[in-house]
Amino acid sequence: MDKKVFMEKFTGRLPKDIKSATPQQLHNALGETVMELYSDRWSVAREEHLSKRRAAYLSMEFLVGRAVFNNLLCLGIYDEVNDAFKELGLDLADLEVIEDAALGNGGLGRLAACFLDSAATLGLPLDGYGIRYKYGLFKQSIVDGFQREDIDDWTKYGDPWSRRCDEDTLLIEYSGQTVKAVPYDMPIFGCRTENVGTLRLWQAEPVKEFDFDTFNKQDYLEASKEKIYAEDISRVLYPNDDTNEGKKLRLKQQYFFSCASLTDILRKHKARFGTLDNLADYISVQLNDTHPVISIPELIRQLVDNEGWTFEKALSTAKKVFNYTNHTVMQEALEKWWTGLVEEVLPRIYEIIIQINEELIAEMYANGVQKDKTNRIKIIKGELIHMADMACYASSHINGVAEIHTQILRDSVLADWYSLYPERFRNETNGITQRRWLALCNKELSSLITEKIGDGWLTDLSQLRELSKYADDSSVLDSFIKVKQTKKQQLADYIKAREGVETDPNSVFDIQIKRLHEYKRQLLNAFSILWIYYGIKDGSITNFKPTTFIFGAKSAPGYKRAKAIIKYINEIGRIVSTDPDTRDLIKVVFVQNYNVSYAEKLVAAADVSEQISTAGTEASGTGNMKLMLNGAVTLGTYDGANIEIVQEAGEENNYIFGARVEDLARIVPEYDSRRVFAEDKMIKRVVSSLIDGTVSDGGSGDFRELYMSLLDGASWHAPDHYYLLGDIRSYVETKLRCISDYDSDRAAFARKQWLNMCNAGKFSSDRTIADYAENIWNIK
Ligand SMILES: *Cc1c(COP(=O)(O)O)cnc(C)c1O
Repeated sequence: MDKKVFMEKFTGRLPKDIKSATPQQLHNALGETVMELYSDRWSVAREEHLSKRRAAYLSMEFLVGRAVFNNLLCLGIYDEVNDAFKELGLDLADLEVIEDAALGNGGLGRLAACFLDSAATLGLPLDGYGIRYKYGLFKQSIVDGFQREDIDDWTKYGDPWSRRCDEDTLLIEYSGQTVKAVPYDMPIFGCRTENVGTLRLWQAEPVKEFDFDTFNKQDYLEASKEKIYAEDISRVLYPNDDTNEGKKLRLKQQYFFSCASLTDILRKHKARFGTLDNLADYISVQLNDTHPVISIPELIRQLVDNEGWTFEKALSTAKKVFNYTNHTVMQEALEKWWTGLVEEVLPRIYEIIIQINEELIAEMYANGVQKDKTNRIKIIKGELIHMADMACYASSHINGVAEIHTQILRDSVLADWYSLYPERFRNETNGITQRRWLALCNKELSSLITEKIGDGWLTDLSQLRELSKYADDSSVLDSFIKVKQTKKQQLADYIKAREGVETDPNSVFDIQIKRLHEYKRQLLNAFSILWIYYGIKDGSITNFKPTTFIFGAKSAPGYKRAKAIIKYINEIGRIVSTDPDTRDLIKVVFVQNYNVSYAEKLVAAADVSEQISTAGTEASGTGNMKLMLNGAVTLGTYDGANIEIVQEAGEENNYIFGARVEDLARIVPEYDSRRVFAEDKMIKRVVSSLIDGTVSDGGSGDFRELYMSLLDGASWHAPDHYYLLGDIRSYVETKLRCISDYDSDRAAFARKQWLNMCNAGKFSSDRTIADYAENIWNIK
């Protein structure tokens, strides 16, 4: 970068009195300047992507977070820009107030963002397609212990990292409604390469802004009707992590970006090659979960209706183009649409789905597949369209996101499909980008690493393994402990500023950050804290080392139990901090508005990473990888990628507890949570806190409902479906051992932490993406 040119362009965009510029003005000026300086590089890369076989990543969510610092880092101009700011009497850190682009709920959306980062860095022609929601994931505050939601108007002050591309606008047709899809492109800068990827996000707009005649007749609302209905389509991100929100608007959203993205892909292909006959040679489309699966009938529709292809030829092309990633084993997240709804909104798509379904049945019959198996895998069952079955039928590759998850897909969730097409199944263990999740969020640890082994790890994380040789070098471990201490102090300062709560950086930082869900078992964590509290009070737990238990989690606004768990955690926090016997030993902090930027601060400061989902429920997890990479030990179950984490870093360097998948298969049929409750005094005491007046849910009855879910179950699940009472003893014992290990030998504990970091190389999304590129997309 030419610093002089940068200065000129940057200051030219600032007010005369530079010091008076607000952070938002600085951000816009910086973003616009960088976009201008690198626009040629971006154009060249776009052209290059179009000229060869490429892949498109279709995802309803991209949880990109804050772009500015990451872009500077990946472009290699962070220090230069930082200096430029100083020369102007400005502080780059002031841009920390810039809002995240929170266009996703959690892991699935963040994965999509990490994948684009890795593909750009690896020089691969991969581009993302999604929706430009006006409002991202809601902003959370905690009032009186309860979650409150507010809208997230993330573009209020502008969006300098996007470029509107009117020339690529197209029309999307629903029955009785036509809307415009306008693309906004974000550059994804690769690190140490000229490659730049593109994230194209579609925004819904009316074909006609406004009906002037109606306006003149003074019916203002009627005059804007078309605009409102059109904009509704990209107005909000569904704040739902893993349940199938059966809404017409959501179906419209899915079709909106699927149709727009495919139209865009076909248009560009045709413009270049003059034909779509070779489409499958040049494009591979990854379907991120079932949300974009409506792309399958849509591609067929375009090829048949617009290009005059036969249905058979179109289907056979679709089977080559698409690949499907499954992200969950939760039944409620495997999307099913009511046939009547699809027929009403998208009648032509509905016809094509019927045709695909008929073809499937005919093909199975011809291949001698048993009728009952065909009935299980067909796309339309009764009045429901099963999107996962459509995806399996019309994809060349199907993948899970961690070894155990892929195995569960093969063994149960997709067993019928596996028996038919075993060669389609692959495992692709998730990953995270080390640019954001180490280089950016932990400059101190990055410096220590680079001092020892150079900075090659930025683009090859496996190099961290070379650091294992320092595991017994006390001076290196001392430096590591100092770094961790610095990050804890920084987090403590931040928590003080943001939450108004004091935390002690000399205490153990035990952190659980992830969406609030019953299967993730934040309630188990809260129970364990109360257990420890009771133990300290009655003298059965002695010499407890001061520990800060930090939670960060958003609950879907309509998910009552999850919201009750948030309140419960805050109630436990109140109890331990108001009791003089424990207030210096236990601290509970529930941070508000957990998002990517908060995560960057939390992962760097963690001593202990809580990954405690019921075995078999967390497909992979990626939070676990972020904390490991920053030198935390995992306190977790044998679930998702935890298993691979322990394989890489050693069981002896982590704290594993609880029933495993194979144990649960044996236990669950006989499991009786009421008996456990009745026979174990401590379990009884802790669980009873929900109803015995220990804590208050403000009279809502929500704690009683949680209590009942553990002991009585509900129409839709057995009592204690997630096995909290079964795992709690093993959990508390392991947790106490972990905290006591930290206390009794800080150096030995630091050695474990260090070795976790050294062995995190496998969990770079660079490794994941290189594998997708080679084995699924066949791109270079
Ligand atoms: C990484 C990340 C997640 C996913 O966390 P898990 O522990 O894997 O569920 C969710 N939200 C944010 C903001 C993240 O950065």
